[in-house]
Amino acid sequence: MSAKGDMYYAWSTDADLLAKGECGGAVSSLLKFALESKMVDAVLAVKKGADIYDAVPTLITNPEEIAQTAGSLHCGTLLLSKLFKKYLNGARDMKIAVTLKGCDVMGMYELAKRQQINLDNVYMIGLNCGGSVSPVSARKMIAEKFGVDPDTVIKEEIDKGQFIIETAEGHKGIKMDELEEEGYGRRSNCRRCKMKVPRQADLACGNWGVIGDKAGKATFVEVCSEKGAALLDAATKAGKLATEAPNPKGIEIRGKVESAMLKLGDSWRAKDFASLGEGSARLKKIVEETSRCIKCYQCIENCPICYCVECSTKKPYLVKPGEVPPNFMFHLIRFAHISDSCINCGQCQELCAMDIPNSLFMHALQVDLQEMFGFVPGVDMTLPVLALVEENEERARLAGTGSDQIFNIFKTE
Ligand code: FAD
Ligand code: SF4
Ligand code: SF4
Ligand code: SF4
Ligand code: SF4
Repeated sequence: MSAKGDMYYAWSTDADLLAKGECGGAVSSLLKFALESKMVDAVLAVKKGADIYDAVPTLITNPEEIAQTAGSLHCGTLLLSKLFKKYLNGARDMKIAVTLKGCDVMGMYELAKRQQINLDNVYMIGLNCGGSVSPVSARKMIAEKFGVDPDTVIKEEIDKGQFIIETAEGHKGIKMDELEEEGYGRRSNCRRCKMKVPRQADLACGNWGVIGDKAGKATFVEVCSEKGAALLDAATKAGKLATEAPNPKGIEIRGKVESAMLKLGDSWRAKDFASLGEGSARLKKIVEETSRCIKCYQCIENCPICYCVECSTKKPYLVKPGEVPPNFMFHLIRFAHISDSCINCGQCQELCAMDIPNSLFMHALQVDLQEMFGFVPGVDMTLPVLALVEENEERARLAGTGSDQIFNIFKTE
């Protein structure tokens, strides 16, 4: 029996998944087994759409369709957690296995503690994550830095610090550091991200630490919960997955790479946050940047912390309707409601119609609040700082109505 903390090299025993998988197809095999054995009713995974820049979230109930989702898409900047809330009734009425990067898992926890997802019904297959590149900047980078037509790229990968593309002519890689120094590369939130191995998932899977003859052909799996152990053991026992003990040198390398990535995250944080200035200079910058806002609501629609049925930004007594740009109160509301729990997923920036660096602003505030109050979002079920002002009956009302309003100061009766 596996237990929390156990580590394996794992790969698929299915020839198709072994070939199609990013690193031996262990994750695809786990997902397929979970469906076949009826441990879950459905799988939420990601498949390639029109091209490698088009990552499509897909709900699968037929195990034979799992092979369509094998492989990693680094130019897909999705956040899967919000989809549970929006389209899957928070996994309240079906058991779902899902592949989740660090930010995805963090979003799952923040939604779960707001009673928007039932984590008991979810198998969280975590994926280690060095970062993702926005489809728009990936195309630009491939054209300008690689001198390659982005439409001719068959596959991309991020390996050993390089962004590598594959075309009919072969492979070409450029160091990520070099790309990022010139303004290309990973999304800015990914550069600042420090959730590299998502151990709050049930399993954490990735290629770091797989060395020797298994390099590229197996996935390094860390067991992170009893649920994860049960899934891994059952799939292995059923002969769907092969495992072996990881090379001790591989474990050491994985630890070193993770530490190096965390340090890199810290240095990007220092650089990005310094660019905002401090105190009133920072506030002035935020006011100036957000003055481009056209109130398209994408930041709210896609933020995993924004879950309210009645959003305060739509209350006419707080934000005057029909005004573009909206009064700064629009953004202040979001800062007040979200900043303690922001998971730096980048969605509010990536999808902002006016390219406002919303995620940078919110993340900078979150890090300051974390220093002040010690609350770390996305890692467990601890309630956020703002929850401290709520009374028990208010929490029940919040759960019942989905409303964010803690005290209705405008109540007339
Ligand atoms: P497969 O059997 O190929 O299954 C991969 C699964 O990932 C599929 O189910 C697919 O739906 C899902 N998936 C693909 N793209 C996404 C996406 N964008 N978001 C969510 N799910 C997705 N490992 C490391 O050790 N270091 C890294 O730096 C690292 N960076 C990664 C960055 C990204 C964006 C992704 C998606 C993965 C990254 N991984 C990293 C994990 C690694 O690439 C493999 O996914 C992992 O080793 C499992 O390989 P496999 O062959 O078992 O998976
Ligand atoms: Fe990966 Fe972190 Fe970027 Fe999410 S925010 S895609 S976990 S690097
Ligand atoms: Fe993600 Fe932006 Fe919401 Fe933070 S504020 S959790 S970066 S969408
Ligand atoms: Fe987000 Fe606040 Fe609106 Fe709720 S009320 S959706 S937390 S901005
Ligand atoms: Fe304004 Fe950008 Fe949010 Fe749209 S996504 S409402 S433009 S800040």
